[in-house]
Amino acid sequence: MTTSKRIRIAIQKSGRLSKESQQLLKLCGVKFNVNEQRLIAHADNMPLDLLRVRDDDIPGLVMDGVVDLGIVGENVLEEEQLEREALGKNAEVNKLRQLDFGACRLSLAVPNEVEYDGPQSLQNMRLATSYPNLLRRYMNQQGIAYRDCMLKGSVEVAPRAGLADGICDLVSTGATLEANGLYETDVIFRSMACLIQSNQTQDPAQQALINKLMSRINGVIRARESKYILLHAPTDKLDKIVSLLPGAENPTVLPLNDDTNRVAIHAVSSEDLFWDTMEELEALGATSILVMPIEKMMG
Ligand code: ATP
Ligand code: MG
Repeated sequence: MTTSKRIRIAIQKSGRLSKESQQLLKLCGVKFNVNEQRLIAHADNMPLDLLRVRDDDIPGLVMDGVVDLGIVGENVLEEEQLEREALGKNAEVNKLRQLDFGACRLSLAVPNEVEYDGPQSLQNMRLATSYPNLLRRYMNQQGIAYRDCMLKGSVEVAPRAGLADGICDLVSTGATLEANGLYETDVIFRSMACLIQSNQTQDPAQQALINKLMSRINGVIRARESKYILLHAPTDKLDKIVSLLPGAENPTVLPLNDDTNRVAIHAVSSEDLFWDTMEELEALGATSILVMPIEKMMG
């Protein structure tokens, strides 16, 4: 009997990426139960184990080949790569794809009372951050001298606490900045979650499973980005109606019983259809407009 080695995927234990990382794997058909106390969760139906760790540890675990795959924010990945490159350590990973969650940006922000008039306004400031390498790269590109104050958490309170003049921190809505009397001045990095692979995976059976997982992830994400649309349309407005459906250039057009002036259209649209588009469709004479979610897609 050949026992092929199990694949290990590192995901965030608890935090902003953990729920969606687990859900993505479940939608790909990986069956597992997470025990909050345990680091490892074994999949029941494929040779795959989930390693639940702090997100900061994920890039390093993948780079060192301790795990085969990881789901992590591009911000954390890039910061670790810069850190390792600065230290002359191996920083190579294979980024398999960007995922469709975890959107945020790394931004500079200063207290409301500070006047901002271009990046040079930050000259000689002390900036609090958990991302010293991304900050350094940006400030060097801009040619601005600054000092940093490394904080792993509570970065947004640093100016009020008198620890720094400004901050470089992750933002998604900006509500935290506002609540702390800060405003955003420069976006220095835009980030999504991504799937990374170690370039030390060598076993062909393991690689085959990774490829299969990738194709399922692609299918899940494409399905989430698409909608199935059904409607009845006047035959003479067919072209106009189809042009309102993004990504649905070749829809299925079916005859309707006892009605030669109208047809049924079935199409997969690559974007969510908003009320505005549905109203335009209706104005062109479309009726029985249905927009439905798609669960999986392949091919
Ligand atoms: P850990 O305990 O795993 O180290 P953490 O506190 O460092 O967790 P989280 O706050 O859970 O991390 O964020 C994880 C990732 O989620 C971030 O690195 C980033 O890629 C993404 N993210 C999305 N939106 C935001 C946001 N508004 N603030 C912070 N991170 C965000
Ligand atoms: Mg972290």
